[in-house]
Amino acid sequence: MDCIFCKIVSGEIPSVKVYEDDSAIAFMDINPLNDGHVLIIPKAHAATINEITQSDFVAVMSATHKLAAAVQKALNPEGINLMQLNGRAANQVVPHLHVHIVPRWSGDGLSICKWEPMAGNMEKIEDVAERIRSEVEN
Ligand code: 5GP
Ligand code: ZN
Repeated sequence: MDCIFCKIVSGEIPSVKVYEDDSAIAFMDINPLNDGHVLIIPKAHAATINEITQSDFVAVMSATHKLAAAVQKALNPEGINLMQLNGRAANQVVPHLHVHIVPRWSGDGLSICKWEPMAGNMEKIEDVAERIRSEVEN
């Protein structure tokens, strides 16, 4: 399969690795939004949140938790954004699931996760909630 991140897992494409376990690896983003921009990925290919197994996703999030602590100790940022994009409409560019750790400093000029809140229509919110509730698997 022609996947950049699978090639990083196999070592075919070099990366600056900062963590590895049985199911996940973490490496530095080649186009960092800020110093300390890390990507965490599953070793097994899965394009999005809707394709990855629950256990691989848990492994990725567990590695993310470890790496966020390491980034905090190493760089002492004032904040951290976690980002995980799924699908072209959500601006996902590399179709191998990844979590971004982006350290933040006030005044760094990035505009990640910034929007103006607007009151929702409660009827629509209730209707959509009911559709989601009926699909939740226990
Ligand atoms: P997304 O798919 O969430 O939009 O972001 C993909 C991320 O992967 C980008 O931040 C981009 O800089 C990073 N990226 C793309 N190709 C490579 C690569 O070959 N090596 C590394 N280390 N990062 C990459
Ligand atoms: Zn892949």
